[in-house]
Amino acid sequence: MQATSLNRLKDALLDLLFPPRCIGCQRGGAWLCATCRAQIELVLPPLCPVCGQHLDPGNACRNTHPRSLDGIRSAAYSTGVLREGIHQFKYQGLRVLALPFGELLCACWQEQPWPADGIVPVPLHPRRVRERGYNQSLLLAEQLARGTGLPLEAKLLQRTRYTRPQVGLNAPERAQNVAGAFTCVAPVTGRRIVLVDDVCTTGATLDACSAALKAQGAASVWALTLARARDLN
Ligand SMILES: [Zn+2]
Ligand SMILES: [Zn+2]
Repeated sequence: MQATSLNRLKDALLDLLFPPRCIGCQRGGAWLCATCRAQIELVLPPLCPVCGQHLDPGNACRNTHPRSLDGIRSAAYSTGVLREGIHQFKYQGLRVLALPFGELLCACWQEQPWPADGIVPVPLHPRRVRERGYNQSLLLAEQLARGTGLPLEAKLLQRTRYTRPQVGLNAPERAQNVAGAFTCVAPVTGRRIVLVDDVCTTGATLDACSAALKAQGAASVWALTLARARDLN
């Protein structure tokens, strides 16, 4: 049996054992139904070219911009059904949400593709992977790689320092918390990298990842996240 047929069989069996139920309205049939998907607040242009914040024409961006990253784009705001879904995706083991979330990421990418040679997920510390059982950013990066055909480089970037969760920290504290926490384990001279993460709050984690990639020669580092805070500060 071919791998694709085997995967389809596996999906069908999983659907039987764990029937899909919408994360928004709890109706059966899909993990994210069309009605709830339509309620997700997408980040609409015009955007700040650097941090991807929606800007009404004539307004200047007031966010603190990343030092290392070339730019950030996000599919949607971290509100409502998406915020709830991300919580289930990260903390309640609902890995299958990588599929509908991956579609949102791919749609965002199609809107504004930029030059890229490889996709790199924001890594978790091995201790956190053991606690959670998986890295949600890797699951999203896999879907983006599948949708774009770009190679996934899951081991390139590693989290070499254990950091406390960013929740509850302000922007400077977040930057300090993750500074130097990442290491790029191989040269990436001249390569254009796309970093993938679930949520961008201040951009501090993404920027620390970018610094590690650029220290190994990356030509550009852009970040694509599923969700973002309304203002990155
Ligand atoms: Zn629904
Ligand atoms: Zn900006």
